[in-house]
Amino acid sequence: MPDLPLTQLAHAILESVITAGDTVIDATVGNGHDTLFLAHNVGPNGKVYGFDIQQAALDTCYQRLCDNAATKQVSLFHAGHETMPMFIPEDLQLEQIKAIMFNLGYLPGGDKQRCTQFSTTLNALSFSLQAISIDGVISILAYTGHSGGKEECDSIKNWLGTLDKNAIQITIHKPENTIHSPPELIIIRKSKHQ
Ligand code: SAH
Repeated sequence: MPDLPLTQLAHAILESVITAGDTVIDATVGNGHDTLFLAHNVGPNGKVYGFDIQQAALDTCYQRLCDNAATKQVSLFHAGHETMPMFIPEDLQLEQIKAIMFNLGYLPGGDKQRCTQFSTTLNALSFSLQAISIDGVISILAYTGHSGGKEECDSIKNWLGTLDKNAIQITIHKPENTIHSPPELIIIRKSKHQ
């Protein structure tokens, strides 16, 4: 799948692990494309929890879900992903979530200041690693071209370097021969208990 745009590659990878009825998280709802994708994949008996710090993003997402009759299985929270432990039911916090998506950066067409920050992203990632099931996947689409983006991407990679490689597999996809600061898609799979 090397030629797919990274957003589509992320979807292709997640589609292969998510089954109907699963519980998943969209850690950065934005305009809601990934939330809708997740809602379709878990189906009406599954569950998607979505987080964003901007009400405008959640409103756009909610409208998209309404237009596609996919509101039933989705709960949206106007809250930072670093507060996930306050919103995800306690009985789901340990290895019960099949997939968690991060699409970092700022809301396209929105306020570029309200961008994801490495410290809160790392908090959310460390919770995510605990929350995903064995064979579950975390996907992180990181943009390196905007202010702070490269630092955020590097800090994620540094954090990954501290993790037990026997328990997780990490794959990093980058487009070849493109622009100077290409986005990167980081895929983390948990293969054993942490
Ligand atoms: N750059 C991507 C879109 C990223 S959208 C693209 O071009 O497709 C990123 C979203 O993350 C924005 O809607 C922003 O409001 C949200 N966000 C920023 N900080 C956040 C946080 N701490 N928790 C959850 N969402 C956050």
